[in-house]
Amino acid sequence: VTDDVRSRGPAAWSSVLPVGGRLPAPVFRSRHRWLVGIGYAHLPALLLVGTAWGVGTSHLLAELTGILGLLVVASVPRLDHRLRAAAVTTALTGCSTVLVHLTGGLTESHFHFFIVVALITVYQQWTPFLIAIGWVVVHHAVLGSLAPASTFGSPEATASPLLWSLIHGVAILAASAANLLTWRLAEVERQRAEDVLASVPQPTYGIGPDGVITFSNRALTELVGLDPIGRHHHDLLHGERAPCHLCASVQDAQEHRSEDVLWPHADGTSVPVELRSRPAESGVVITFWDIGDQLAHRRELEALALTDALTGLANRTLLGDRLQQALEAPTGGTTDVAVLFLDLDRFKDLNDTLGHAAGDSIIRAISERIRSQTREEETIARTGGDEFVVLLPGADVDVGVAVAQRVLAAISRPLTIEGGEVFLSCSVGVAATSDPGTAPDRLLADADLAMYAAKAAGGGQVQAYRVDLRDRAGERAALGGDLHRAFDACELEVQYQPTWELDDLRISGAEALVRWRHPTRGVLSPRVFIEVAEQTGAIVPMGRWVLEQVCQQLETWRHDPSIPADELVLAVNLSVRQLRDPAVVPHLRELLAHATFEPRQLTLEVTETGLVEEGDAAIAVLEELRALGVSLAIDDFGTGFSSLSTLRRLPVDILKIDRSFITGIGADPGNQQVVRAIVGLARGLGLDVVAEGVEEPSDLAAVRALSCDRAQGYLLAHPSPAEQVAELLRGRSPLRLPEPGPVIAKVG
Ligand code: C2E
Ligand code: MG
Ligand code: MG
Repeated sequence: VTDDVRSRGPAAWSSVLPVGGRLPAPVFRSRHRWLVGIGYAHLPALLLVGTAWGVGTSHLLAELTGILGLLVVASVPRLDHRLRAAAVTTALTGCSTVLVHLTGGLTESHFHFFIVVALITVYQQWTPFLIAIGWVVVHHAVLGSLAPASTFGSPEATASPLLWSLIHGVAILAASAANLLTWRLAEVERQRAEDVLASVPQPTYGIGPDGVITFSNRALTELVGLDPIGRHHHDLLHGERAPCHLCASVQDAQEHRSEDVLWPHADGTSVPVELRSRPAESGVVITFWDIGDQLAHRRELEALALTDALTGLANRTLLGDRLQQALEAPTGGTTDVAVLFLDLDRFKDLNDTLGHAAGDSIIRAISERIRSQTREEETIARTGGDEFVVLLPGADVDVGVAVAQRVLAAISRPLTIEGGEVFLSCSVGVAATSDPGTAPDRLLADADLAMYAAKAAGGGQVQAYRVDLRDRAGERAALGGDLHRAFDACELEVQYQPTWELDDLRISGAEALVRWRHPTRGVLSPRVFIEVAEQTGAIVPMGRWVLEQVCQQLETWRHDPSIPADELVLAVNLSVRQLRDPAVVPHLRELLAHATFEPRQLTLEVTETGLVEEGDAAIAVLEELRALGVSLAIDDFGTGFSSLSTLRRLPVDILKIDRSFITGIGADPGNQQVVRAIVGLARGLGLDVVAEGVEEPSDLAAVRALSCDRAQGYLLAHPSPAEQVAELLRGRSPLRLPEPGPVIAKVG
């Protein structure tokens, strides 16, 4: 940079003289106005001076008329500004000449010439400047020779007018050199300011107090597509779009900022800008800030805060806002609003088996399918992993259910993911209201409840909200509260249902099933309260307690010589919720460490549905449990849709076929086929098969014929208190076995 400046040094010095003609038009006009005014002010002043010196009126008026004529010419705005400057210059130097003449060449009157030359320099133009100097020289030389007495006041000067013209000429030239220097320095300063302005990337301009633009930079010219200097600020800003409050900077000497303004660029596009004004020396400086990037960034952030990154759908926050709006503002003349709460069935299993990338693709594909069944003005939100909400303003519950059915049908079409076909289904809850006072959360909670009901009924269906769903939920909540008390009040009890070996029909074990002796509702089945216990988390302490009871029972029976318990296997049900408890493995290890029975005498049962929902994390815990030596069983097998690949990875020893396949199997060739297939599968994987729900002798015959290993069911024994089961084990069964048919029960 320094080298660059040095190389330009001589060129800069070569121009010691001012260039001239660089003043912007508005600045020139304003200075010109002042000089014309000064010219007019001379007329009465000269009239007074002339009268005081006793000059004749007609003579005086003749001279002043000439000056007036020049000033009139200088005031005509249409004329070329150089001509007008020349007219003012001639008028003012004329005033000097008249003054010298009227005062009879008074030496002090000659000072007026000096003042005029200095004044004329403010034009920063060579023409008026040279006219002024030329006039002085010519005046002294010509009038000094023709009428020396009225040109030079002193006798010496009158005697030798040429010498004195020369002396005056030199003096005026010296004064002019000083003026030229000031002029040149002003030019350099102005150039520097213009260079700085030109290098400012923001379009910038300055206006005077009259609103006329006095300076601007190239960036502004490019933006507006014309030379703005000399125009009124409002013309530039296209009238009504003018952010006039920016001019306030002139009045209150404060900085101001406009709102975001969309500015039409000269090239036809629009630029978002912010205008900032700052009071400056006699006026205001206004700068345009291009806020395109900033706006884009802001919009991006807003979008991020309100949408789901994976699908671009609304998130919970945006959904809440839209729902509030929909409730407040009637749509299509109705205050109806419906919401659909949608949850994919068994998504977790897919996510675990196919991987998270495929899971993401599925979620995106599902969001597209929902979109395909809804209208533009209807909001779709993703509120959780595989949870979506659709907001239907103006829809009642019937319309909501119809849309939900369409969405369900769309989602149920096979989906191609990573080259393979995936079959999905979902559960949809629908809730609607026509009361604008409904709380948004309440409506969502109703739809959520309905969705749970759809799920509980097997999934793949639509359920509209009904009041009794909430009643049932309320009942469950009450049960949840009671359950805590039940635990402390020792209202829980473990019963046992024996398991029979099918080859010789001997009892080889029993399944522990918890019962709740409710003070008002009688004995409650775990089907009623296990789900609540899972939801409240009470299942964890309850499960620990059951496991401890079962271990104790096994110890008791082992120490009872009347009971052959060395090979007896007790099964305990474990909720997947318990698998999430970090203490589950240490707790069992501890129990086994203090036990005298073998770990293999304990079987843990986990339902297939639970495993499918829980995925890989559960498998890891099961492996740790199995490593302690206990056996693992998949309970209710056949209802949970576990894939063959998942099944192969599960660390289990036993499949318990769900009783929906067993009860009545004797007369059901379809179920016989299913069970035959399951047994074949189990054999292939090296697993034992237990048939649950044997109620009829024909069921027993069928499961034996199908080579199941063990069976359980009301035909053989109901779940009973430990004491009764002990009797059965001792072979003194108080339980009467019904018609044995072709088989006879043996104990041992
Ligand atoms: P499960 O483990 O499949 O237990 C078998 C269920 O079938 C028991 O119901 C039993 O009474 C019933 N059952 C047995 N034989 C027959 C039959 O021939 N016909 C019919 N219709 N039913 C039969 P229960 O005792 O009501 O238990 C229901 C479920 O509650 C159990 O299903 C199990 O999943 C769960 N459960 C029971 N106790 C516990 C426990 O201590 N912890 C956990 N986590 N779950 C438990
Ligand atoms: Mg079970
Ligand atoms: Mg079962």
